[in-house]
Amino acid sequence: MTPTGRHFLQIPGPTNTPERVLRAMAAPTIDHRGPQFAELGLEVLEAVKRVFGTTQPVVIYPASGTGAWEAALVNTLSPGDRLVCFETGHFATLWQEMARRLGLEVDFVPGDWRHGVDPETVADKLRGDTGHRIKAVLVVHNETSTGVTSRVAEVRNAIDSTGHPALLLVDTISSLGSIEYQHDVWGVDVTVAGSQKGLMLPPGLSFNAISQKALEASKTARLRRSFWDWQPIIEANKRGFFPYTPATNLLYGLREGLRMLDEEGLANVYARHLRHAEATRLAVRGWGLEVLCADEREHSGSLTAVLVPDGYDADKIRAVILDRYNMSLGAGLGKLTGRIFRIGHLGDFNDLMLAGTLAGVQMGLIAAGVPIDPTGINAALDRLQRP
Ligand SMILES: *Cc1c(COP(=O)(O)O)cnc(C)c1O
Repeated sequence: MTPTGRHFLQIPGPTNTPERVLRAMAAPTIDHRGPQFAELGLEVLEAVKRVFGTTQPVVIYPASGTGAWEAALVNTLSPGDRLVCFETGHFATLWQEMARRLGLEVDFVPGDWRHGVDPETVADKLRGDTGHRIKAVLVVHNETSTGVTSRVAEVRNAIDSTGHPALLLVDTISSLGSIEYQHDVWGVDVTVAGSQKGLMLPPGLSFNAISQKALEASKTARLRRSFWDWQPIIEANKRGFFPYTPATNLLYGLREGLRMLDEEGLANVYARHLRHAEATRLAVRGWGLEVLCADEREHSGSLTAVLVPDGYDADKIRAVILDRYNMSLGAGLGKLTGRIFRIGHLGDFNDLMLAGTLAGVQMGLIAAGVPIDPTGINAALDRLQRP
């Protein structure tokens, strides 16, 4: 069918870019060494700290989230250092693969892709490491491949309970600006983030929020780095500049996106995402389908992964929904390919956008011949009629 009207981009990132952000980016590119840029640089570098919950430096890279993963590792670690990583899903798997390729030694704790990081296991691993060979614990806060959110504050407490000095590195690429996060209060050492999910920008920026302890570690970390090196960037950032040509127009967009988050208030932003996630689960269960996340404490606020019944191909269902209803849903990744689809409900989003999304999913499931209860959506609509 020839698509008409607005496309529904309901993948869990990139998310819908608000008009305000698009307009803010539609500006002439300026001299990145001039006074006008310095003003923009100083403003965004300061404003971005709030969404991380930090007063410490945040480095901004002109790169996708994967670049900021690499930056977090190469700035804090040395060849042969040992890490503990958790197989929460596809993104956790990719991050630890990157660590191995960089010459780090990884203890990869297996998982079933339906649970987050178990704080008890973190404590056990560190308690067993009396020689302090483990230098860092890696956690993906919101596993975008599964819709499971790990309890980072509890992981921090688990680390503290052992007195172990390992750094805590956290990927918040699909949670920052959508799900509550506190870099300073939770004692995270490096927080990795990206522009194209909760921050509502197009792809192209990524971030490292850096604790004092991580900054200290970077002085002796011996992994090779040049472009990703924090030191020259932090130095230039003091005057609002970058050591290379920054992504000026994306920074205009970032300034506007951060203003929008401030206007709504971060607490309201987080509550909105939790409410939409709850309504989505009500619809999924109303259809008689299963949510992938298996722990009630760990449901993601930014996306919901839905298991399709045996004998049905989730990618075929997604293709029907794209063709008939002009809506993109997230695919199953890695070992979940074909077994799940993912509904993104993060970023610039409201009740009617969710109602439209769920109506499209329901009609698409029926069109694809999946046996569901067609009253499923009603529970979600009931939920949306309450604050
Ligand atoms: C999207 C995502 C990534 C990958 O980020 P890119 O911008 O595609 O490099 C990594 N981790 C998580 C949790 C993500 O959601």
